Amino acid sequence: MTRKPQPVLTGPSGGQAWSASVIGRHHEPVVYELSSPGRRSWSFRTTGMPEWDATDLVPADHLADEPPALPEVSERDLVAHVTRLTQRNYSVDLGAYPLGSCTMKYNPKLCDVASSVPGLTGVHPAQPGEQTQGWLRLLVELEDALCRITGMAAATLQPAAGAQGELTGLLLMRAWHDAAGSPRTKVLIPDSAHGTNPASVTLAGYQTVEVPSDRRGLVDLDALRTLVDDDVAGLMLTNPNTLGLFETDIVEIARLVHEAGGLLYYDGANLNAILGEVRPGDMGFDIVHMNLHKTFAVPHGGGGPGAGPVAVAPRLVEFLPGPRPQLDPETNRYTLTTPPRSIGRIHGWHGNALALARAYAYIRANGGDGLQLVAQTAVLNARYLKERVRDVFDLPYDEPCMHEFVASAANVKRATGVKALDLAKRLIEEGFHPPTMYFPLIVDEALMVEPTETESPQTVEAMAQAFERIVTEAEADGGAAARAAPRTTPVSRVDEVQAAKKLRLRWTPDEERSTAARVPSPLH
Ligand SMILES: *Cc1c(COP(=O)(O)O)cnc(C)c1O
Repeated sequence: MTRKPQPVLTGPSGGQAWSASVIGRHHEPVVYELSSPGRRSWSFRTTGMPEWDATDLVPADHLADEPPALPEVSERDLVAHVTRLTQRNYSVDLGAYPLGSCTMKYNPKLCDVASSVPGLTGVHPAQPGEQTQGWLRLLVELEDALCRITGMAAATLQPAAGAQGELTGLLLMRAWHDAAGSPRTKVLIPDSAHGTNPASVTLAGYQTVEVPSDRRGLVDLDALRTLVDDDVAGLMLTNPNTLGLFETDIVEIARLVHEAGGLLYYDGANLNAILGEVRPGDMGFDIVHMNLHKTFAVPHGGGGPGAGPVAVAPRLVEFLPGPRPQLDPETNRYTLTTPPRSIGRIHGWHGNALALARAYAYIRANGGDGLQLVAQTAVLNARYLKERVRDVFDLPYDEPCMHEFVASAANVKRATGVKALDLAKRLIEEGFHPPTMYFPLIVDEALMVEPTETESPQTVEAMAQAFERIVTEAEADGGAAARAAPRTTPVSRVDEVQAAKKLRLRWTPDEERSTAARVPSPLH
Protein backbone atom coordinates (compact mmCIF):
# COMPACT_ATOMS: atom_id res chain seq x y z
CA MET A 1 0.00 0.00 0.00
CA THR A 2 1.38 3.42 -0.85
CA ARG A 3 0.86 6.23 1.56
CA LYS A 4 -0.11 9.74 0.50
CA PRO A 5 2.53 12.33 1.36
CA GLN A 6 1.65 14.09 4.61
CA PRO A 7 1.12 17.84 4.28
CA VAL A 8 4.16 19.72 5.55
CA LEU A 9 3.22 23.02 7.18
CA THR A 10 5.43 25.91 8.06
CA GLY A 11 5.47 26.92 11.71
CA PRO A 12 4.80 30.47 12.94
CA SER A 13 8.49 31.25 13.35
CA GLY A 14 9.62 29.75 10.10
CA GLY A 15 10.56 26.34 11.41
CA GLN A 16 9.08 23.15 10.00
CA ALA A 17 5.83 22.06 11.57
CA TRP A 18 6.10 18.43 12.56
CA SER A 19 3.37 16.15 13.73
CA ALA A 20 4.25 13.28 16.01
CA SER A 21 2.60 10.85 13.62
CA VAL A 22 4.87 11.84 10.74
CA ILE A 23 8.10 11.92 12.67
CA GLY A 24 7.31 9.17 15.10
CA ARG A 25 6.81 6.73 12.29
CA HIS A 26 9.00 7.79 9.43
CA HIS A 27 11.50 10.47 10.13
CA GLU A 28 12.98 12.01 13.21
CA PRO A 29 14.48 15.42 12.52
CA VAL A 30 17.74 16.31 14.16
CA VAL A 31 17.26 18.77 17.00
CA TYR A 32 18.54 21.63 14.80
CA GLU A 33 15.60 21.12 12.45
CA LEU A 34 13.24 21.71 15.38
CA SER A 35 15.03 24.94 16.19
CA SER A 36 13.30 28.31 15.99
CA PRO A 37 15.17 31.57 16.68
CA GLY A 38 14.67 32.82 20.22
CA ARG A 39 12.85 29.76 21.53
CA ARG A 40 13.93 28.72 25.01
CA SER A 41 13.46 25.82 27.40
CA TRP A 42 13.85 27.40 30.78
CA SER A 43 10.97 27.60 33.22
CA PHE A 44 11.98 30.24 35.80
CA ARG A 45 10.64 33.74 35.21
CA THR A 46 13.83 35.01 36.80
CA THR A 47 16.79 33.45 38.50
CA GLY A 48 17.58 36.63 40.41
CA MET A 49 21.06 36.57 38.89
CA PRO A 50 22.34 39.89 37.57
CA GLU A 51 22.91 40.17 33.84
CA TRP A 52 26.61 39.74 33.09
CA ASP A 53 28.87 40.47 30.24
CA ALA A 54 30.92 37.52 28.98
CA THR A 55 33.91 39.81 28.47
CA ASP A 56 34.07 40.30 32.27
CA LEU A 57 34.95 36.64 32.65
CA VAL A 58 36.63 35.65 29.40
CA PRO A 59 39.39 37.68 27.73
CA ALA A 60 37.98 39.33 24.61
CA ASP A 61 40.44 37.64 22.27
CA HIS A 62 39.18 34.25 23.47
CA LEU A 63 35.60 35.05 22.52
CA ALA A 64 34.21 34.00 19.13
CA ASP A 65 32.64 36.72 16.96
CA GLU A 66 29.37 34.83 16.79
CA PRO A 67 27.76 32.75 19.54
CA PRO A 68 27.78 29.03 18.71
CA ALA A 69 24.81 27.93 16.59
CA LEU A 70 22.99 25.97 19.27
CA PRO A 71 19.50 24.60 18.65
CA GLU A 72 16.78 26.79 20.13
CA VAL A 73 13.90 24.58 21.20
CA SER A 74 11.18 24.57 23.81
CA GLU A 75 11.31 22.07 26.64
CA ARG A 76 8.14 20.51 25.29
CA ASP A 77 9.56 19.88 21.82
CA LEU A 78 12.84 18.68 23.23
CA VAL A 79 11.18 16.12 25.53
CA ALA A 80 9.01 14.89 22.66
CA HIS A 81 12.08 14.57 20.43
CA VAL A 82 14.06 12.56 22.99
CA THR A 83 11.03 10.42 23.90
CA ARG A 84 10.43 9.54 20.24
CA LEU A 85 14.09 8.62 19.84
CA THR A 86 13.90 6.27 22.84
CA GLN A 87 10.81 4.63 21.35
CA ARG A 88 12.62 3.86 18.13
CA ASN A 89 15.29 1.92 19.98
CA TYR A 90 15.35 -1.70 21.00
CA SER A 91 16.66 -2.11 24.54
CA VAL A 92 17.30 -4.68 27.25
CA ASP A 93 14.34 -3.27 29.15
CA LEU A 94 12.08 -3.98 26.16
CA GLY A 95 12.86 -7.60 25.41
CA ALA A 96 15.35 -10.41 24.90
CA TYR A 97 18.68 -9.38 23.41
CA PRO A 98 20.63 -12.59 22.69
CA LEU A 99 23.80 -10.88 21.46
CA GLY A 100 26.42 -13.59 21.96
CA SER A 101 29.75 -12.58 23.54
CA CYS A 102 28.45 -9.07 24.26
CA THR A 103 26.02 -10.23 26.99
CA MET A 104 23.09 -7.86 26.85
CA LYS A 105 21.20 -9.10 29.87
CA TYR A 106 18.51 -7.29 31.76
CA ASN A 107 19.94 -5.11 34.55
CA PRO A 108 17.94 -5.12 37.81
CA LYS A 109 16.46 -1.75 38.77
CA LEU A 110 17.83 -2.28 42.26
CA CYS A 111 21.28 -1.42 40.87
CA ASP A 112 19.92 1.86 39.42
CA VAL A 113 18.57 2.81 42.81
CA ALA A 114 21.64 1.77 44.79
CA SER A 115 24.05 3.65 42.53
CA SER A 116 21.87 6.78 42.51
CA VAL A 117 21.96 7.55 46.23
CA PRO A 118 23.17 11.13 46.81
CA GLY A 119 25.92 9.93 49.16
CA LEU A 120 27.55 8.34 46.11
CA THR A 121 26.58 10.71 43.31
CA GLY A 122 27.25 13.94 45.22
CA VAL A 123 30.94 13.25 45.88
CA HIS A 124 33.62 14.93 43.79
CA PRO A 125 36.42 12.54 42.86
CA ALA A 126 38.98 15.09 44.05
CA GLN A 127 37.50 15.16 47.55
CA PRO A 128 40.18 14.03 50.03
CA GLY A 129 40.16 10.39 51.15
CA GLU A 130 39.38 11.48 54.72
CA GLN A 131 35.95 12.69 53.49
CA THR A 132 35.23 9.76 51.19
CA GLN A 133 35.81 6.76 53.43
CA GLY A 134 32.49 5.20 52.38
CA TRP A 135 33.35 5.38 48.69
CA LEU A 136 36.81 3.93 49.28
CA ARG A 137 35.33 1.14 51.36
CA LEU A 138 32.91 0.30 48.53
CA LEU A 139 35.80 0.13 46.05
CA VAL A 140 37.93 -2.02 48.35
CA GLU A 141 35.04 -4.41 49.01
CA LEU A 142 34.27 -4.62 45.28
CA GLU A 143 37.93 -5.40 44.55
CA ASP A 144 37.82 -8.08 47.23
CA ALA A 145 34.64 -9.64 45.79
CA LEU A 146 36.07 -9.67 42.25
CA CYS A 147 39.24 -11.32 43.52
CA ARG A 148 37.23 -13.97 45.33
CA ILE A 149 35.13 -14.61 42.20
CA THR A 150 38.20 -14.95 39.97
CA GLY A 151 40.64 -16.51 42.46
CA MET A 152 43.17 -13.70 42.16
CA ALA A 153 45.18 -11.69 44.72
CA ALA A 154 44.42 -8.03 43.92
CA ALA A 155 42.78 -5.91 41.23
CA THR A 156 42.74 -2.47 39.68
CA LEU A 157 39.30 -0.98 39.15
CA GLN A 158 40.54 1.81 36.87
CA PRO A 159 40.07 0.47 33.31
CA ALA A 160 36.89 1.78 31.69
CA ALA A 161 36.24 -1.08 29.25
CA GLY A 162 37.23 -4.62 28.41
CA ALA A 163 39.65 -3.45 25.75
CA GLN A 164 41.30 -1.04 28.18
CA GLY A 165 41.53 -3.88 30.69
CA GLU A 166 43.29 -5.96 28.03
CA LEU A 167 45.80 -3.20 27.39
CA THR A 168 46.34 -2.84 31.15
CA GLY A 169 46.88 -6.60 31.50
CA LEU A 170 49.34 -6.67 28.61
CA LEU A 171 51.27 -3.72 30.06
CA LEU A 172 51.45 -5.67 33.35
CA MET A 173 52.75 -8.65 31.38
CA ARG A 174 55.37 -6.44 29.77
CA ALA A 175 56.39 -4.88 33.10
CA TRP A 176 56.77 -8.33 34.64
CA HIS A 177 58.99 -9.68 31.85
CA ASP A 178 61.01 -6.45 31.79
CA ALA A 179 61.55 -6.62 35.55
CA ALA A 180 62.73 -10.20 35.17
CA GLY A 181 65.28 -8.92 32.64
CA SER A 182 63.84 -10.96 29.75
CA PRO A 183 61.68 -8.83 27.48
CA ARG A 184 59.66 -10.87 24.98
CA THR A 185 57.95 -9.98 21.69
CA LYS A 186 55.04 -12.37 21.00
CA VAL A 187 51.59 -13.04 22.46
CA LEU A 188 49.59 -16.13 21.47
CA ILE A 189 45.85 -15.83 20.71
CA PRO A 190 43.43 -18.54 19.51
CA ASP A 191 41.79 -18.00 16.11
CA SER A 192 38.36 -17.88 17.79
CA ALA A 193 39.37 -14.85 19.93
CA HIS A 194 37.49 -11.58 20.25
CA GLY A 195 38.78 -8.88 17.90
CA THR A 196 39.92 -6.65 20.74
CA ASN A 197 42.58 -9.25 21.74
CA PRO A 198 44.88 -8.85 18.72
CA ALA A 199 44.19 -5.10 18.71
CA SER A 200 45.30 -4.79 22.35
CA VAL A 201 48.36 -6.94 21.69
CA THR A 202 49.40 -4.61 18.88
CA LEU A 203 48.73 -1.51 20.99
CA ALA A 204 50.90 -2.97 23.78
CA GLY A 205 53.76 -3.33 21.31
CA TYR A 206 53.63 -7.11 20.95
CA GLN A 207 53.26 -9.27 17.89
CA THR A 208 50.16 -11.50 17.65
CA VAL A 209 50.67 -15.19 16.90
CA GLU A 210 47.47 -17.08 16.09
CA VAL A 211 46.82 -20.51 17.61
CA PRO A 212 44.45 -22.66 15.51
CA SER A 213 41.36 -24.37 16.95
CA ASP A 214 41.02 -28.11 16.55
CA ARG A 215 37.95 -29.99 15.32
CA ARG A 216 36.34 -29.71 18.76
CA GLY A 217 36.57 -25.91 18.56
CA LEU A 218 39.18 -25.89 21.35
CA VAL A 219 42.84 -24.79 21.41
CA ASP A 220 44.83 -27.22 19.23
CA LEU A 221 47.35 -28.55 21.79
CA ASP A 222 49.81 -29.90 19.20
CA ALA A 223 49.86 -26.55 17.45
CA LEU A 224 50.31 -24.77 20.78
CA ARG A 225 53.34 -26.96 21.58
CA THR A 226 55.05 -25.89 18.36
CA LEU A 227 54.29 -22.19 18.95
CA VAL A 228 55.34 -21.78 22.60
CA ASP A 229 58.95 -20.66 22.97
CA ASP A 230 61.03 -18.33 25.13
CA ASP A 231 59.99 -15.30 23.08
CA VAL A 232 56.32 -15.75 24.04
CA ALA A 233 55.24 -13.22 26.67
CA GLY A 234 51.95 -15.00 27.24
CA LEU A 235 48.74 -16.52 25.95
CA MET A 236 45.38 -14.71 25.93
CA LEU A 237 42.44 -17.03 26.29
CA THR A 238 38.68 -16.82 26.79
CA ASN A 239 37.26 -19.77 28.71
CA PRO A 240 34.56 -20.72 27.87
CA ASN A 241 35.85 -19.58 24.49
CA THR A 242 33.92 -17.56 21.93
CA LEU A 243 32.35 -20.75 20.56
CA GLY A 244 30.74 -21.11 23.99
CA LEU A 245 32.90 -24.17 24.74
CA PHE A 246 34.93 -24.86 27.87
CA GLU A 247 38.63 -25.41 27.21
CA THR A 248 38.91 -28.80 28.90
CA ASP A 249 42.71 -28.90 28.39
CA ILE A 250 43.22 -25.70 30.34
CA VAL A 251 45.53 -27.27 32.94
CA GLU A 252 47.83 -28.63 30.22
CA ILE A 253 47.65 -25.31 28.32
CA ALA A 254 48.67 -23.43 31.50
CA ARG A 255 51.56 -25.85 32.11
CA LEU A 256 52.91 -25.42 28.56
CA VAL A 257 52.85 -21.62 28.72
CA HIS A 258 54.26 -21.39 32.25
CA GLU A 259 57.06 -23.84 31.51
CA ALA A 260 58.19 -21.56 28.70
CA GLY A 261 58.21 -18.64 31.13
CA GLY A 262 55.05 -17.02 29.72
CA LEU A 263 52.00 -15.66 31.55
CA LEU A 264 48.36 -16.67 31.11
CA TYR A 265 45.86 -13.92 30.39
CA TYR A 266 42.15 -14.63 30.90
CA ASP A 267 39.75 -12.58 28.78
CA GLY A 268 36.95 -12.61 31.32
CA ALA A 269 34.77 -10.11 29.47
CA ASN A 270 31.96 -12.50 30.14
CA LEU A 271 31.99 -14.46 33.39
CA ASN A 272 28.35 -15.51 33.14
CA ALA A 273 29.11 -19.19 32.69
CA ILE A 274 31.60 -19.63 35.51
CA LEU A 275 30.43 -17.47 38.44
CA GLY A 276 30.71 -19.55 41.58
CA GLU A 277 31.56 -22.66 39.54
CA VAL A 278 35.22 -22.36 38.63
CA ARG A 279 37.85 -19.63 39.01
CA PRO A 280 40.42 -18.45 36.45
CA GLY A 281 43.02 -18.36 39.24
CA ASP A 282 42.49 -22.10 39.85
CA MET A 283 42.83 -22.78 36.12
CA GLY A 284 46.32 -21.25 36.26
CA PHE A 285 45.67 -17.75 34.92
CA ASP A 286 47.89 -14.87 36.06
CA ILE A 287 45.89 -11.89 34.76
CA VAL A 288 42.10 -11.56 34.37
CA HIS A 289 40.03 -8.71 33.03
CA MET A 290 36.30 -8.58 33.68
CA ASN A 291 33.64 -6.57 31.91
CA LEU A 292 31.39 -5.42 34.73
CA HIS A 293 29.15 -4.14 31.92
CA LYS A 294 28.55 -7.66 30.71
CA THR A 295 28.35 -9.82 33.81
CA PHE A 296 27.60 -7.46 36.70
CA ALA A 297 24.58 -5.41 35.66
CA VAL A 298 26.31 -2.31 34.34
CA PRO A 299 24.54 -1.06 31.18
CA HIS A 300 26.57 -0.96 28.00
CA GLY A 301 26.40 -0.40 24.30
CA GLY A 302 24.95 3.08 23.86
CA GLY A 303 24.18 3.08 27.56
CA GLY A 304 27.73 2.94 28.96
CA PRO A 305 30.10 3.86 30.50
CA GLY A 306 31.56 0.47 31.30
CA ALA A 307 34.19 -0.88 33.65
CA GLY A 308 36.91 -3.44 32.93
CA PRO A 309 38.80 -4.19 36.18
CA VAL A 310 41.94 -6.31 35.97
CA ALA A 311 42.78 -8.85 38.68
CA VAL A 312 46.21 -10.45 39.04
CA ALA A 313 48.10 -13.28 40.74
CA PRO A 314 50.33 -12.39 43.74
CA ARG A 315 53.52 -11.99 41.67
CA LEU A 316 51.98 -9.17 39.61
CA VAL A 317 50.42 -7.09 42.40
CA GLU A 318 53.42 -4.73 42.74
CA PHE A 319 52.95 -3.63 39.10
CA LEU A 320 49.24 -2.69 39.32
CA PRO A 321 48.10 0.81 38.32
CA GLY A 322 47.79 3.29 41.15
CA PRO A 323 46.77 4.94 43.29
CA ARG A 324 44.74 2.07 44.76
CA PRO A 325 42.22 2.35 47.59
CA GLN A 326 43.28 0.10 50.47
CA LEU A 327 42.41 -0.48 54.12
CA ASP A 328 45.21 0.45 56.47
CA PRO A 329 44.91 -2.24 59.18
CA GLU A 330 46.70 -0.08 61.78
CA THR A 331 44.43 2.95 61.61
CA ASN A 332 41.42 1.07 60.20
CA ARG A 333 41.09 3.90 57.66
CA TYR A 334 40.95 3.67 53.88
CA THR A 335 43.89 5.24 52.08
CA LEU A 336 45.25 5.56 48.55
CA THR A 337 48.58 3.94 47.77
CA THR A 338 50.56 3.34 44.60
CA PRO A 339 52.30 -0.05 44.25
CA PRO A 340 56.13 0.16 44.22
CA ARG A 341 56.62 -0.81 40.57
CA SER A 342 53.26 0.46 39.26
CA ILE A 343 52.77 0.75 35.49
CA GLY A 344 51.13 4.11 36.30
CA ARG A 345 47.66 5.48 35.88
CA ILE A 346 45.20 3.96 33.40
CA HIS A 347 42.21 6.22 34.06
CA GLY A 348 41.45 9.40 35.99
CA TRP A 349 40.49 8.97 39.64
CA HIS A 350 39.06 5.50 40.37
CA GLY A 351 37.73 4.69 36.90
CA ASN A 352 34.00 4.90 36.16
CA ALA A 353 33.09 4.89 39.82
CA LEU A 354 29.29 4.80 39.51
CA ALA A 355 29.56 1.80 37.16
CA LEU A 356 31.63 0.17 39.89
CA ALA A 357 28.94 1.01 42.46
CA ARG A 358 26.32 -0.72 40.30
CA ALA A 359 28.42 -3.87 40.07
CA TYR A 360 28.95 -3.77 43.83
CA ALA A 361 25.18 -3.57 44.37
CA TYR A 362 24.61 -6.48 41.96
CA ILE A 363 27.17 -8.69 43.71
CA ARG A 364 25.88 -7.85 47.20
CA ALA A 365 22.25 -8.37 46.15
CA ASN A 366 22.95 -11.80 44.64
CA GLY A 367 25.48 -13.08 47.15
CA GLY A 368 27.77 -15.99 46.33
CA ASP A 369 24.99 -18.56 45.94
CA GLY A 370 22.95 -16.12 43.85
CA LEU A 371 25.86 -15.57 41.47
CA GLN A 372 26.25 -19.33 41.12
CA LEU A 373 22.57 -19.57 40.20
CA VAL A 374 23.14 -16.86 37.59
CA ALA A 375 25.81 -19.04 35.96
CA GLN A 376 23.74 -22.21 36.13
CA THR A 377 20.68 -20.53 34.65
CA ALA A 378 22.72 -18.84 31.90
CA VAL A 379 24.10 -22.23 30.84
CA LEU A 380 20.72 -23.96 31.13
CA ASN A 381 19.01 -21.36 28.93
CA ALA A 382 21.74 -21.59 26.28
CA ARG A 383 21.66 -25.39 26.24
CA TYR A 384 17.89 -25.45 26.00
CA LEU A 385 17.85 -23.06 23.06
CA LYS A 386 20.69 -24.87 21.32
CA GLU A 387 18.78 -28.17 21.52
CA ARG A 388 15.60 -26.48 20.30
CA VAL A 389 17.27 -25.15 17.11
CA ARG A 390 19.20 -28.36 16.41
CA ASP A 391 16.92 -29.17 13.44
CA VAL A 392 16.85 -25.59 12.19
CA PHE A 393 20.56 -24.74 11.85
CA ASP A 394 23.91 -26.47 11.43
CA LEU A 395 25.86 -26.88 14.68
CA PRO A 396 29.47 -27.04 13.51
CA TYR A 397 31.01 -27.44 17.00
CA ASP A 398 28.42 -29.63 18.63
CA GLU A 399 29.91 -29.96 22.12
CA PRO A 400 27.89 -29.14 25.27
CA CYS A 401 27.78 -25.34 25.28
CA MET A 402 28.19 -23.00 28.22
CA HIS A 403 26.38 -19.61 28.37
CA GLU A 404 26.22 -19.21 24.58
CA PHE A 405 26.38 -21.31 21.43
CA VAL A 406 27.36 -20.74 17.82
CA ALA A 407 25.05 -22.06 15.11
CA SER A 408 25.65 -21.80 11.38
CA ALA A 409 22.98 -20.73 8.92
CA ALA A 410 25.00 -22.22 6.05
CA ASN A 411 22.32 -24.90 5.61
CA VAL A 412 19.57 -22.26 5.26
CA LYS A 413 21.69 -20.29 2.79
CA ARG A 414 22.25 -23.38 0.63
CA ALA A 415 18.54 -24.24 0.61
CA THR A 416 16.97 -20.79 0.25
CA GLY A 417 19.71 -18.22 -0.38
CA VAL A 418 18.82 -16.55 2.93
CA LYS A 419 21.91 -15.47 4.86
CA ALA A 420 22.57 -15.12 8.57
CA LEU A 421 22.15 -11.36 8.10
CA ASP A 422 18.64 -11.80 6.61
CA LEU A 423 17.62 -14.13 9.44
CA ALA A 424 18.86 -11.61 11.97
CA LYS A 425 16.88 -8.79 10.34
CA ARG A 426 13.78 -10.98 10.17
CA LEU A 427 14.12 -11.81 13.88
CA ILE A 428 13.65 -8.10 14.65
CA GLU A 429 10.10 -8.39 13.27
CA GLU A 430 9.48 -11.20 15.76
CA GLY A 431 10.28 -8.81 18.61
CA PHE A 432 13.78 -10.03 19.43
CA HIS A 433 17.11 -8.32 19.03
CA PRO A 434 19.28 -10.27 16.58
CA PRO A 435 22.06 -12.49 17.87
CA THR A 436 25.71 -11.70 17.05
CA MET A 437 26.41 -12.54 13.39
CA TYR A 438 29.50 -13.60 11.45
CA PHE A 439 31.52 -14.05 14.63
CA PRO A 440 33.60 -15.96 15.54
CA LEU A 441 35.23 -15.77 12.14
CA ILE A 442 35.94 -19.50 11.96
CA VAL A 443 32.22 -20.34 11.54
CA ASP A 444 30.51 -19.82 8.17
CA GLU A 445 27.25 -17.78 8.40
CA ALA A 446 27.68 -17.71 12.18
CA LEU A 447 24.84 -16.91 14.56
CA MET A 448 26.20 -16.55 18.07
CA VAL A 449 23.34 -16.79 20.53
CA GLU A 450 23.41 -15.91 24.23
CA PRO A 451 19.91 -15.97 25.70
CA THR A 452 21.26 -14.96 29.18
CA GLU A 453 19.90 -16.07 32.54
CA THR A 454 17.47 -13.18 32.84
CA GLU A 455 15.03 -14.59 30.26
CA SER A 456 12.23 -16.89 31.39
CA PRO A 457 11.84 -20.41 29.93
CA GLN A 458 8.80 -19.07 28.05
CA THR A 459 10.86 -16.32 26.41
CA VAL A 460 13.64 -18.73 25.46
CA GLU A 461 11.03 -21.08 23.96
CA ALA A 462 9.49 -18.15 22.08
CA MET A 463 12.92 -17.38 20.62
CA ALA A 464 13.25 -20.99 19.45
CA GLN A 465 9.82 -20.84 17.83
CA ALA A 466 10.69 -17.56 16.11
CA PHE A 467 13.81 -19.15 14.56
CA GLU A 468 11.73 -22.16 13.43
CA ARG A 469 9.04 -19.93 11.94
CA ILE A 470 11.54 -17.77 10.05
CA VAL A 471 13.37 -20.71 8.48
CA THR A 472 10.11 -22.54 7.58
CA GLU A 473 8.87 -19.33 5.99
CA ALA A 474 12.10 -18.93 4.02
CA GLU A 475 11.75 -22.44 2.67
CA ALA A 476 8.19 -21.61 1.55
CA ASP A 477 8.72 -18.14 0.03
CA GLY A 478 12.29 -18.54 -1.22
CA GLY A 479 13.49 -16.01 1.34
CA ALA A 480 11.44 -13.04 0.07
CA ALA A 481 10.24 -11.99 3.53
CA ALA A 482 13.63 -12.43 5.20
CA ARG A 483 15.39 -10.40 2.51
CA ALA A 484 12.88 -7.53 2.90
CA ALA A 485 13.08 -7.52 6.70
CA PRO A 486 12.77 -5.62 8.91
CA ARG A 487 9.44 -4.25 7.66
CA THR A 488 8.06 -3.20 11.04
CA THR A 489 10.69 -0.71 12.20
CA PRO A 490 10.97 3.06 11.58
CA VAL A 491 14.20 2.43 9.66
CA SER A 492 14.25 -0.58 7.36
CA ARG A 493 17.31 -2.27 5.84
CA VAL A 494 20.19 0.19 5.63
CA ASP A 495 23.02 0.10 3.13
CA GLU A 496 25.77 -1.06 5.45
CA VAL A 497 28.55 -0.71 2.88
CA GLN A 498 27.60 2.92 2.24
CA ALA A 499 27.30 3.52 5.96
CA ALA A 500 30.81 2.23 6.53
CA LYS A 501 32.45 3.85 3.51
CA LYS A 502 30.70 7.22 3.30
CA LEU A 503 30.67 8.48 6.83
CA ARG A 504 28.55 11.55 7.35
CA LEU A 505 29.04 12.40 10.98
CA ARG A 506 27.93 16.00 10.96
CA TRP A 507 24.55 17.48 10.11
CA THR A 508 24.61 20.77 8.21
CA PRO A 509 21.63 22.97 7.34
CA ASP A 510 22.19 22.40 3.59
CA GLU A 511 21.19 18.82 4.08
CA GLU A 512 17.93 19.73 5.77
CA ARG A 513 16.01 19.73 2.51
CA SER A 514 17.30 16.36 1.37
CA THR A 515 16.56 14.69 4.72
CA ALA A 516 13.10 16.27 4.86
CA ALA A 517 12.46 15.05 1.33
CA ARG A 518 12.78 11.50 2.57
CA VAL A 519 9.49 11.89 4.52
CA PRO A 520 7.46 9.75 4.13
CA SER A 521 9.32 6.53 3.50
CA PRO A 522 7.41 3.75 1.75
CA LEU A 523 6.85 1.52 4.75
CA HIS A 524 4.25 -1.19 4.17
C1 LIG B 1 33.13 -7.56 24.81
C2 LIG B 1 34.36 -8.34 24.79
C3 LIG B 1 35.61 -7.70 24.85
C4 LIG B 1 35.79 -6.18 24.80
O1 LIG B 1 35.13 -5.48 25.80
P1 LIG B 1 34.81 -3.91 25.62
O2 LIG B 1 34.30 -3.47 26.94
O3 LIG B 1 33.80 -3.82 24.54
O4 LIG B 1 36.08 -3.22 25.24
C5 LIG B 1 36.73 -8.49 24.89
N1 LIG B 1 36.65 -9.84 24.86
C6 LIG B 1 35.46 -10.49 24.79
C7 LIG B 1 35.44 -11.99 24.76
C8 LIG B 1 34.28 -9.77 24.74
O5 LIG B 1 33.11 -10.40 24.64
